[in-house]
Amino acid sequence: MSHSQDCIFCRIAAGEMDTTFVYESEAVVAFEDLAPQAETHVLVIPRQHIPSVDAVAHDHQSLLSELVAAATHIARDRGVDRTGYRLLTNHGQDAGQTVFHLHFHLLGGNALGPLG
Ligand code: AMP
Ligand code: ZN
Repeated sequence: MSHSQDCIFCRIAAGEMDTTFVYESEAVVAFEDLAPQAETHVLVIPRQHIPSVDAVAHDHQSLLSELVAAATHIARDRGVDRTGYRLLTNHGQDAGQTVFHLHFHLLGGNALGPLG
């Protein structure tokens, strides 16, 4: 499993940052966003370093479905499956990506603004 000392999410996934995981499996971890944009704002990431969704390849298929399964599990856990939630990932400058390790934002718990 690749692990970059320069990548904050690699370090979080490796347990080096004392982060509380709200979900954890062999391949995936999830934790609260540092600067929440909604009542529920959880980041779901692979332990493996993948720079963004743009670098997802065919052999990441099962990892990708595990990331989505983790997100829907957390959504059910928080009850936002009933009220609605947004699951999104940013790639590159125009999307405002700031951490270059694939992550899905799980946002919910209140009405969310429009996209774009
Ligand atoms: P993005 O703009 O899609 O790259 O999202 C990066 C997200 O990571 C932002 O919402 C940040 O608030 C969040 N973030 C950055 N560093 C940390 C950290 N150490 N712990 C938790 N969330 C973080
Ligand atoms: Zn990384």
